Amino acid sequence: MNRATTLTIGSRVHEELRKLPSVESVLQNTEIQRSIEAKGRPLVVDTIRHVVEQARLEIETGLPCPALETLVERALAELETRDRPDLLSVINGTGVIIHTNLGRAPLSQDSRTAMDLAARGYSNLEYDLADGSRASRHLHAEDLLRRITGAGAGMLVNNNAGAILLALTALARGKEVVISRGQLVEIGGGFRIPEVMAQSGVRLVEVGTTNRTHTRDYESAVDEETALLMHVHHSNFRVLGFTQQVSLIELVDVAAQHGLLVVEDLGSGSLLDTSSFGLSHEPTVQEAIAQGADLVCFSGDKLLGGPQAGIIVGRTDLVTCLKRHPLARALRVDKTTIAGVQATLLHYLRDEATDKVPVWQMISLGVEEVLARATSWADRLSGLGVEAEVIPGLSTVGGGSLPGETLPTGLLALRVPSPDDLAHRLRTGEPAVVGRIEGGQFMLDPRTVLPWEEQDLLSALEQALQS
Ligand SMILES: *Cc1c(COP(=O)(O)O)cnc(C)c1O
Repeated sequence: MNRATTLTIGSRVHEELRKLPSVESVLQNTEIQRSIEAKGRPLVVDTIRHVVEQARLEIETGLPCPALETLVERALAELETRDRPDLLSVINGTGVIIHTNLGRAPLSQDSRTAMDLAARGYSNLEYDLADGSRASRHLHAEDLLRRITGAGAGMLVNNNAGAILLALTALARGKEVVISRGQLVEIGGGFRIPEVMAQSGVRLVEVGTTNRTHTRDYESAVDEETALLMHVHHSNFRVLGFTQQVSLIELVDVAAQHGLLVVEDLGSGSLLDTSSFGLSHEPTVQEAIAQGADLVCFSGDKLLGGPQAGIIVGRTDLVTCLKRHPLARALRVDKTTIAGVQATLLHYLRDEATDKVPVWQMISLGVEEVLARATSWADRLSGLGVEAEVIPGLSTVGGGSLPGETLPTGLLALRVPSPDDLAHRLRTGEPAVVGRIEGGQFMLDPRTVLPWEEQDLLSALEQALQS
């Protein structure tokens, strides 16, 4: 481009910029005035500023100045979404039950009611109603945790990573913690067990190899600097072939001989036996306690099926020590979480988890039932001229639990010209729907779609397929 053309373009841009309507002039528009009444002046002014600024950038790239009406239209469109929260409900058609990116466990009706109740007004969160005196928030879930898991004591923190951080900081800061190289795992989202352990100020002593660790490896690593032995459940991967791991029972044995503690990170922390649902056996919290772990840490929103929380159960003296640690304050749970965890735990106490806890309802759903739902969806869509069929497939538990384990399922498979396009339209629709693409088909697994979401899902599908 020579100098003369550059100048011409420069002056054209300059001319267009001079035509750019001011924020004031957009504000005069009657529709904009009406939206000020509905949404308040600050939000509307802010939106118009944004729209005018976008137009300025557009002009600077060489485009002509948009008309005043165009700016009004853009501002009104932007106002539609600007005062809405951006955490949206999503219908999960992926068949991954504990989908971390989609918020892990959906909660039971009782849990939602309990959380709403706790949020609505005041509660006896830290108040003894009989005595009229101050009490601890830790007391609420503790009795339930004791009764269900058989542990001496229990407490809640924000999540399992927090539970591990607190346990190690309170019990082993400045000392050594022995762990097998086969258990230095990355959980997901860049979260690595050894890094959390390092944050707690303990010195990691790694023993064994990636595939094989023996009791003698622990025994030769233990010295007067050792505070505890850490055991981490392989929640999201499997080691096959020439392998050897020291079981929790064996580790407890080694610890007992040297007067050391054993902390178990169970990850998903199931309270039910997964092997009764056609899955392999995931160690339960009750088993870990019975096998002699001094403390057991697990998540509230994986196989427990409750709100995000970290749960610690174990020896009373140790849990007391954790509750008193300053870090416990930084990791403490909110009243709504306590209410939700409590309501979820009550389902287990009443032996009704498979009927009431969504994660377990989904796990225990029979394949015939899933197939029937997929078939009814296919029938409903058949009028649209879409190639919809029901095919056998697999659902997974997800959430870093039961790696490689699957549940037979029935999938609604749609053959469309562009599955990516359909997937995008469904994700950005209202409500948002997430499915999966396999073999060039767009698929939805009814197992993870909650019964009351079905009508909305079908309307979203009809809309997306027709557009
Ligand atoms: C998921 C998981 C964690 C982290 O739990 P959060 O509740 O997400 O903090 C830690 N350890 C193991 C073994 C896990 O599976």
